[in-house]
Amino acid sequence: MRAMVLETGQRRLQLKQLPVPQPSPGQLLIRVHACGVCRTDLHIVDQELSEAKLPLIPGHEIVGTVVKTGDQVTRFRPGERVGVPWLGTTCGECRYCRREQENLCDHARFTGYTLDGGFAEFTLADQHFCFHLPPGFEDTEAAPLLCAGLIGYRTYRLAGNNIEHLGLYGFGAAAHIVAQIAVHQGKKVYAFTRPGDTEAQEFARRLGAVWAGASTQMSPQPLDAALIFAPAGELIPAALKATDKGGHVVAGGIHMSDIPAFPYRLLWEERKLSSVANLTRRDGEELLELAYRIPVRTEIERFPLEQANEALDRLRSGRVEGAAVLVMN
Ligand SMILES: [Zn+2]
Ligand SMILES: [Zn+2]
Repeated sequence: MRAMVLETGQRRLQLKQLPVPQPSPGQLLIRVHACGVCRTDLHIVDQELSEAKLPLIPGHEIVGTVVKTGDQVTRFRPGERVGVPWLGTTCGECRYCRREQENLCDHARFTGYTLDGGFAEFTLADQHFCFHLPPGFEDTEAAPLLCAGLIGYRTYRLAGNNIEHLGLYGFGAAAHIVAQIAVHQGKKVYAFTRPGDTEAQEFARRLGAVWAGASTQMSPQPLDAALIFAPAGELIPAALKATDKGGHVVAGGIHMSDIPAFPYRLLWEERKLSSVANLTRRDGEELLELAYRIPVRTEIERFPLEQANEALDRLRSGRVEGAAVLVMN
């Protein structure tokens, strides 16, 4: 099979020919049709995340067809469409797994990070962590739901219920999905982008944001919650400043630059600051059901598999509208 591989000490992926892997008893062998490119892939390739297995096939927003199943597989059959997310396996036994926080499992393994992922023509996945995907989404359109959608949804869910005015910092793959859910639920969405990124601001307005501007601008309205999807630490004090009393700032990314010092009065009055790590399978089931019912429309830009580096470069410089997706054939 063809695969884009990250080797030790390298910062570009290399196209390789590798043998098709064989499933163990609980695994699916999947022919990959599409795989989303996520900011986390960028952090892995840029070595800002240090626990990657190497060599590694990145990619954790995988849509494909089951071609073969291990002897113990009961949830999927060959020929079925399947989605594979970031959470690849958990132990099921640690204190986090036992209290419905499998996203924090001590022994979790992650697709495209500590397990090989979907920047390839075939991949393996644990049946219990794969999703059945709703109809109405082409393979390429479904791919961004599996991380941008899922992590975005968890970030939104953790912000709580009392939200009328919602700020989204960084208007890329995750925010463009969350915005549609929030607008559908009657929230007013305020989109904050890099200064000068009028295309992203226009994109946000098109998806129903009542206001879009630069992250350096003051919000026209105190926010009940702010979700941060850009990896820039200075957005934390900026978002706290824009947030109303009792409001909640949630950081949705896996990596962020250092947060500058800020005065306590920005946190005072019961503002809350928290982060989101990974996802649970419950998040996935809920998001996919919502995405189907609303329905969410993902905006994607397609790249052939061998142009994974170009897709990552575009993401790095913020020049992808919506989500970048690799297409295998
Ligand atoms: Zn566990
Ligand atoms: Zn991701």
